[in-house]
Amino acid sequence: MNTVKKYLHPILIFVIFEAVAITLWLTKHNLFYLFNFSYIGISIALGIFLYIRKYKHARRVVQLLVGLYMLVYLGFIKGENMQIEGFWYYLFTGVFEAATIHYAVAKIFGPLIFGRGWCGYACWTAMVLDFLPYKVPQKPRKKLGWIRYITFAASLIFVAALFLAKVGNIERIMFWAFLIGNLVYYGVGIALAFAFRDNRAFCKYICPITVFLKPMSYFSLFRVRCDKEKCVSCGKCKRVCPMNVDVTDNSRKRENGTECILCMECVKNCPKDAL
Ligand code: SF4
Ligand code: SF4
Ligand code: SF4
Repeated sequence: MNTVKKYLHPILIFVIFEAVAITLWLTKHNLFYLFNFSYIGISIALGIFLYIRKYKHARRVVQLLVGLYMLVYLGFIKGENMQIEGFWYYLFTGVFEAATIHYAVAKIFGPLIFGRGWCGYACWTAMVLDFLPYKVPQKPRKKLGWIRYITFAASLIFVAALFLAKVGNIERIMFWAFLIGNLVYYGVGIALAFAFRDNRAFCKYICPITVFLKPMSYFSLFRVRCDKEKCVSCGKCKRVCPMNVDVTDNSRKRENGTECILCMECVKNCPKDAL
């Protein structure tokens, strides 16, 4: 009984994903959804299981399992554009398929429950950026967040223009947009990480998906909270945070609160177990 209690979270995650997998499989009559959501659910549940077992690379294991699956299998092999352009494309065509479902679950409605868990555990861009040397930002944060609105608008205008110009074979263009878009993201992300000495600079200033993620994660059910009775205001949590979040403030308006990627570095490093 104690074992079930200890591992309740991974069991719950597995059950929730399995419920989504079976529902979509039966309602959309497509076995892909059963495989897809089962795989993601098992990967995340495994990561939480490893975290409970205090395995220090637990988050990276999930990041690689989910990120590589999305990039290599769904992107390269199945030809699904899972980037934001793919979302616009399927939205305009009115097709409720992998990219739209993925965005709805991971990036639009899911963050109401699990915040920016996507960014900490599944994103294939961050999966690569997190290998770079600046896990903890070495320079103060810059006021460049406005760039994300430009990249967001550019992605929308790009896809809308293809439809308005009635360009043929848009599906093929979307596949190439996925390949080129990823190369650009990796190139810019790596260059910014070194320029700002911050692995997550791309996430903080450029990524268009944060236009969805930030407002939705403001209301996130799951968030790191600080026990003020235990906290001694040593500031270590803020120093180790890759996203510059002031996690000691429990209000929704905490500094950079909508940037939290739930990586749990603050929790692991708090000397007083206050988080
Ligand atoms: S901010 Fe964008 S690039 Fe960074 S982890 Fe989130 S989705 Fe990925
Ligand atoms: S690391 Fe822990 S004790 Fe130190 S400021 Fe953060 S929550 Fe408080
Ligand atoms: S270190 Fe803590 S506050 Fe910072 S992103 Fe990770 S979980 Fe969120």
